[in-house]
Amino acid sequence: MNTTDTQRPDVLVIGGGIGGLSVALALIRQGLRVRLCEQAPAFGEVGAGLQIAPNCTRILHAYGLLDEAVQLGVLPEYMIMKDALNAAELTRVDLKDMERRYGFPYMVIHRSDLHGVLLRGCERAGVELVTGARCAAYENIEGGARVTFDGGGSDEAEIVIAADGLRSVARKLIVDDEPVNSAYVAYRGAIPFERVRANDVHEKDVVLYVGPRCHFVQYPLRDGQMFNQVAVFQSPKALAGEDDWGTPDELDCAFEGTCHQVQKGLPLMWRDRWWRMFDREPLMKWVTGRIALLGDAAHPPLQYMAQGAVMAIEDGWVLGEHVSAQHAKRSEKGSGVDWEKALAAYEAVRPEHCRRVVLTARSWGELWHHVAVEREQRNAVMRARDTYDYSFMDWIYGATALTPDQEPEMYPSIPLDSVEI
Ligand SMILES: Cc1cc2nc3c(=O)[nH]c(=O)nc-3n(C[C@H](O)[C@H](O)[C@H](O)COP(=O)(O)OP(=O)(O)OC[C@H]3O[C@@H](n4cnc5c(N)ncnc54)[C@H](O)[C@@H]3O)c2cc1C
Repeated sequence: MNTTDTQRPDVLVIGGGIGGLSVALALIRQGLRVRLCEQAPAFGEVGAGLQIAPNCTRILHAYGLLDEAVQLGVLPEYMIMKDALNAAELTRVDLKDMERRYGFPYMVIHRSDLHGVLLRGCERAGVELVTGARCAAYENIEGGARVTFDGGGSDEAEIVIAADGLRSVARKLIVDDEPVNSAYVAYRGAIPFERVRANDVHEKDVVLYVGPRCHFVQYPLRDGQMFNQVAVFQSPKALAGEDDWGTPDELDCAFEGTCHQVQKGLPLMWRDRWWRMFDREPLMKWVTGRIALLGDAAHPPLQYMAQGAVMAIEDGWVLGEHVSAQHAKRSEKGSGVDWEKALAAYEAVRPEHCRRVVLTARSWGELWHHVAVEREQRNAVMRARDTYDYSFMDWIYGATALTPDQEPEMYPSIPLDSVEI
């Protein structure tokens, strides 16, 4: 593609995942001309369910997309943590009460359904959607930025948003880092509910079984017609430095000794593909000139807080709100947005929030996967938590901060060795 062929957009988004689509929507809502380029030949998402917390359903509501998303998803009743070895309940969250507290629901939805909701939103709003366009290089130019595609074409705009995921090409302009291998691997499986009806499952809840170096998640999808399962474990082969890690034989070994509810779920996982879990060290600089990182390109987390897609959607919303504040009249010179101010405001608030989430996700994973005495201490802490205690959630599920002073304090941490067992 060459910009000479078509009208130059104000904004070029690279990557058509949940992050790219949501920022495209956020910016076209501000009256900008937005073009989005995705490397794949067609738009889509591979994978199973997503948990979408109130800090994101609030934004979907603002975009007028929440009703459609809720119709495709499920609003579960409880989130329940159990010990994976004996299925004993450790703690639960009343999700209806949580909705009252934060004003918006906790939703679970098939990843392709949420992606479809955002894609249709972009289509209706007039985002120019391009597939089969793999960006090979980014560069700043006078008054904007340019990308070059595989095959030689190029495109440019006042601003380029790189929503190109964990292995972002644009990130290399800012930092020379690599994804951090957690040595954990995820298996997924979304299947018709009928196949698990006899498995002692919760039909209306999100259930998390935490076990030694492993955990297992279950929740309903698609109005309860489907059931989502995620099995995550530490791979001994990854720890040993072997390339071929996370294979199904490791899955079966990792969950030996777990309760019958988990055991019954394991054979139903997709066994022909698995997802190795990487994050990156937090990055506090996301913008270089007129090129800005967004979503996993900026802050890929381990998935234990279920906030990766949520943060990507928040990024787009925050940028859209700052564009709105900095938007003068369009002229023949361009969109009229003061991009320096809008990008500075974006970078002033999002990296710190996402740093907290990425680091908390790591510690959350450690907490879930404890063995021996620490497992007992963890269980004691969880059992002592009141169902209606939100002190661990207020910092994350409240309204997304637009400025650093709106970012809430983090939760008070409880040292495990403070617990007598
Ligand atoms: C097992 C698991 C469970 C998860 N559960 C949750 C959950 O419950 N809740 C939650 O909020 N998050 C969850 N996440 C995290 C979430 O999936 C990601 O954080 C989110 O999808 C990131 O979206 P993104 O658009 O930034 O990146 P991606 O989804 O990686 O999208 C990047 C897009 O850019 C395209 N692209 C890449 N490079 C180029 C290029 N050079 N040129 C053009 N296009 C390019 C890719 O094809 C892709 O379409 C989970 C993740 C995993 C692995």
